[in-house]
Amino acid sequence: MNKPDVIIGLEVHIQLKSRSKLFCPCPTTGDDEPNTRVCPTCLGHPGSKPLLNKAAVDAAVRLALALSSQINPVLNFSRKQYFYPDLAKNYQITQYEIPVGNHGNITLANGKRIDLMRLHIEEDPAALTHTSTTCLIDYNRSGIPLIELVTEPAMHSPDEAREFLNTLMTILGYLNIFNPDEGVMKADANVSIAARGYTRVEIKNILGFKEIERALTFEIARQRAHEVVRETRGWDAAAGQTYRMRAKEKEEDYGYIFEPDIPSVNISQEYLNSIRTTVPELPSAKAERWVQTLHIDPTDATIISTELALAERFERLAQHHSAILVARWLRRELLRVLNLTGKKVNDVAEQRLHELFDLLEKKTITDKIGQQLIEELAKKEFSPKQRVEEQNLGAIGDVEAIKHACAEEMEKNKQAVADYKAGEEKAFHYLFGQVMRAMKGKAKPDVIKQVLKNILEG
Ligand SMILES: [Zn+2]
Repeated sequence: MNKPDVIIGLEVHIQLKSRSKLFCPCPTTGDDEPNTRVCPTCLGHPGSKPLLNKAAVDAAVRLALALSSQINPVLNFSRKQYFYPDLAKNYQITQYEIPVGNHGNITLANGKRIDLMRLHIEEDPAALTHTSTTCLIDYNRSGIPLIELVTEPAMHSPDEAREFLNTLMTILGYLNIFNPDEGVMKADANVSIAARGYTRVEIKNILGFKEIERALTFEIARQRAHEVVRETRGWDAAAGQTYRMRAKEKEEDYGYIFEPDIPSVNISQEYLNSIRTTVPELPSAKAERWVQTLHIDPTDATIISTELALAERFERLAQHHSAILVARWLRRELLRVLNLTGKKVNDVAEQRLHELFDLLEKKTITDKIGQQLIEELAKKEFSPKQRVEEQNLGAIGDVEAIKHACAEEMEKNKQAVADYKAGEEKAFHYLFGQVMRAMKGKAKPDVIKQVLKNILEG
């Protein structure tokens, strides 16, 4: 097999949704005034002791289980020692020798499996703000629980990296352990290309999805154009370029030691089983099951499964209506109108969709009227059933009425009739459109086509 042109590995840092910090009871959200959510532990005062946050461990184990990682039987923490003001105690508590989980994988929407190397828990350092003369430090962030997820160097384009992150986000949403509105997602990326003998460059601290894709795209182009040395680079989002930070340091430079203040925690089978019961079926498994058992379109299945609220709604609605119809309408129509209006799935009352799908299934209304109704439902709640009765929007199956409309439109558009008879197929579409409009979308298109053809050729 040819070696790939581009090799990308990611280390993703995910801020866990947690009320308190990893080793102290300070809140993770609330007052944004700097250095207000702090205590001796997260300020690193001598003599202060860390106390492990169980909810954070539970969340990390849930993620590790969801990603099919091997969970290590003992939970240990280590000190990563370095001198920098973002950690006042001069070390970061992390997991080095033994992470929560090893291996595991994430399956992308296109079916490709990205293997993972490890997943561990660590504390976030403080936030530094550099000005021209000073450096400001906010310890509110110090000690916030993070998960670091390290992939194998298994991705081969910035697109694929973005796809990976999208899938990861969906999984985090299903597990309810990350808040995209408050939480931060950062990544370090390893990039190398064949033309430079796969000399590895690490880009540090890229903030947010779009930036990760941009940084990778820039760095690959840079490596194609210039000599590459093994180094660590930063990402300047404003300038849209990576820059040299330092020659690559080795992990040993950090002088890791086991953290003596946190006792080892045994991860029992019983504990794992209890966490396992809280891991929901993941999007890729859901989509596959729907395709297999409900026979819905695979693309519909993938798209619907990417958002938990939509996936759950689909499953409930599909119990009462044709799954194929529900899938098609949720994906093509509901998502379309939500995009247009900027609303969320739960903004459209489920009961109203029930009514709408009922009308569509019984062919009481045409697709065209259905589209109009769903557009209006995204703006304001009303009863589709009542609206159809009040405004007489029911489908017209009466062939006489359709014949009448066809005759009227042919009378008004004599030129088009002549063109059609002279062999112009386009003229038929024009006439068809005129009749559709005259019937205000209430007649079924295929019936109109048939009736119109019969008259024109009769
Ligand atoms: Zn604290």
